[in-house]
Amino acid sequence: MTRQKGTNNQDVKRQNKLLILKMIATGNGLSRVDIANTTGLTKMTVGNLISELLEEHLISEKSYDTEYETENKYGRRPVTFSVSDQSPCTLGILIKRELCQLIIGDLSGTILDSITYTYESLGNAMELLDLLYEGYLLLQSRTRRKIIYIGISSVGPIDTSKGIILNPPFFYGIHDLEITDYFTKKTGLPTYLINDANAGALAEKLYGMMGNVKDYIYLHIMNGIGIGIIINDVLFEGSTGQSGELGHTSINYAGPKCDCGNQGCLELYANVHAMRESICEYRSQFPESPLSSMEKPIWEDIVKAANTGDSLAKMVLAEYCSYLSHALISVLKILNISTIIAGYTNPGRGTFIEEVLQTKLSNALLFQNFGTITVKHSFFDDNAPLIGSISFINNKIFNGELPI
Ligand SMILES: [Zn+2]
Repeated sequence: MTRQKGTNNQDVKRQNKLLILKMIATGNGLSRVDIANTTGLTKMTVGNLISELLEEHLISEKSYDTEYETENKYGRRPVTFSVSDQSPCTLGILIKRELCQLIIGDLSGTILDSITYTYESLGNAMELLDLLYEGYLLLQSRTRRKIIYIGISSVGPIDTSKGIILNPPFFYGIHDLEITDYFTKKTGLPTYLINDANAGALAEKLYGMMGNVKDYIYLHIMNGIGIGIIINDVLFEGSTGQSGELGHTSINYAGPKCDCGNQGCLELYANVHAMRESICEYRSQFPESPLSSMEKPIWEDIVKAANTGDSLAKMVLAEYCSYLSHALISVLKILNISTIIAGYTNPGRGTFIEEVLQTKLSNALLFQNFGTITVKHSFFDDNAPLIGSISFINNKIFNGELPI
């Protein structure tokens, strides 16, 4: 009995230590008093655990500016803490259809170095793996920090439990790629895989705007549509990590057949190609629109024009949002979630997409006694899945699933 109690005490101590590490890593200059007040732990316990974290070089004391001291005669500014520049890091990898990115990031979500490789096509899976391994070697040679994990955020569908990229549509025929096995064997580092939208959801939770929001959906709408679902502060990944494939839910049971085998999938209607076709069809009615004179407007052109009030852009993007909201309404209703955070490339500061989605979803759910629907733009613009490649590893560390 005594022994078991001792083990439990050790567990509690470890959990408290990880909680403090997480607060320091995701907070902004916290002091011992801040941490004690927030956690409810005694100042002595906080002090002891912070001493251990300092000794392990996971955190360091923040130097405070002298200006503050001269202005404030009545007290010293409390010592605050941040993640140590000697602490270990994670190599994060983002795999998309047109590019892959590699980053080195620490527990605070700070990106220390990065490489991007773009491609129009890939010959086979080995070409992709060679490229990623080359990037790993290059980043490793440029850093003095220790890399202890690899996190891979990828287009889906994937199987997280087995670390396999299954069969993403339009991905140059690459399928059943055992990517975590490959990296573990090549580098000796434990490697984990996550769906890109799920990674984005965790990036927002740890380092973005969603730290205090318990339930929300991260919606990624670039080159495919996916969602990451956070319920009660925890990512819902499903049995094999394939949750959130919103783009392949049907919005028309009699619609055309999709590559995934389903009929009338959302992505068949809500995509840049379809918006381009609408622009072609209506451009003669909107000669003043900048889109009318473009041979092949891309996503950024359409979003930028809509945000500056262009009628043609607003029309086609509103149609895109209509399809999107049809699929989203079902999800919001089933899960009773009322906050969405949208990630996509937004050249400028406009929020046309967020406003249209918020209005459409609010109107549809008006009679459901739902709370107010909120749709915000991602803190990371379109980069949440990239930051997510290190966020999901850091989340495992803070939860005690992975040792540090
Ligand atoms: Zn489909």
